[in-house]
Amino acid sequence: MDIGHLPKNILDKICNLGGTEKQLRCKECKKITKQVSITYGEMFPDDDSIPGHILLAVNNYNPGVTLTLGIPFVCTECGKMKLDGGLISTVMNKHTRAY
Ligand SMILES: [Zn+2]
Repeated sequence: MDIGHLPKNILDKICNLGGTEKQLRCKECKKITKQVSITYGEMFPDDDSIPGHILLAVNNYNPGVTLTLGIPFVCTECGKMKLDGGLISTVMNKHTRAY
């Protein structure tokens, strides 16, 4: 399949390549802020375990993961991370303390 011809917004939805900008509500700032998407590998920058990082990186190209979990976005004002656009993003945002 030639994914080069897919519209960018669909590509952004099924692959997590990072760098997408969105206006989202930030829990920390308590208002709508500009948020930038990051890759899954960037979610845990301090984790040096190679296998873990490769697994996370592979998920950037796994539509099942991006559509279920959502894509991680970081608030450009406070740095707080949240997941957006996935089936369980809201649940993950509520129950995950990591970000
Ligand atoms: Zn914020």
